[in-house]
Amino acid sequence: MRQHGKLEYGGHATPQRTCVGCRGRTAKSELLRLVRVEDHVVPDLQGRLPGRGASLHPTLSCLELAERRRAFPRAFRVPGPLDVSRVRAQLEGDHANVM
Ligand SMILES: [Zn+2]
Repeated sequence: MRQHGKLEYGGHATPQRTCVGCRGRTAKSELLRLVRVEDHVVPDLQGRLPGRGASLHPTLSCLELAERRRAFPRAFRVPGPLDVSRVRAQLEGDHANVM
């Protein structure tokens, strides 16, 4: 499956990711990267944490969609439920970044 992103300065295609909540494809830079730390999903604000990541629009509605669809255990390939309270706290404190 080939995706042709828009060209940016320097000729690099814009990386695209799929939101685990609404499944919309969006430029990576507009999505919040999430990683799993043990039983918690945490926001990777610096984009530097190692391991498998999941991408989410930084909105509570997409977080709730992802929870309802049990998208996090699937994205992180774990059998059990994951605690998203840190992601929720991050989004609730981030009203300046409403899309
Ligand atoms: Zn979304």
